[in-house]
Amino acid sequence: SLNMSDEVKKAQEAAELAADGSPPTIFDNIISGKWDSDKIHEDDLCLAFRDITPQAPVHFLVIPKNRDGLTQLSKAREDQKELLGHLMYVAQMLGQKECPDGFRVTVNDGKDGAQSVYHLHLHVMGGRQMAWPPG
Ligand code: 5GP
Repeated sequence: SLNMSDEVKKAQEAAELAADGSPPTIFDNIISGKWDSDKIHEDDLCLAFRDITPQAPVHFLVIPKNRDGLTQLSKAREDQKELLGHLMYVAQMLGQKECPDGFRVTVNDGKDGAQSVYHLHLHVMGGRQMAWPPG
């Protein structure tokens, strides 16, 4: 019946919501290991893996393992300042190891920032001379 299909639809929508109330992203599958990724770092708080569409010879992403509402940088809460610092610390630690001559750390936020995956991630790019301004 119409009611039944409405219920099924609601249940399906509910199942698609992550613990923080936003739809899960492909990064959940990478964190869980359901999808393969080229991981270069993992600790209690974060995961770093190579971008599937690299924009530079070195291009990896650093993401929090628990999104906890951090769909994008502009959703950051005061109590997440330590986590944000940790992500940036890990980004530079891995960045200087792979790119001794320098690198770029980028966070795309929202529509105008050209964000496509709504699970906070720091892009680390290098291994070539980067241009400025970015597009
Ligand atoms: P955004 O555009 O949101 O700042 O960046 C998302 C990034 O995730 C893009 O650079 C894109 O290439 C990368 N990405 C999307 N899907 C996958 C995937 O399945 N695996 C990996 N390793 N990277 C992905």
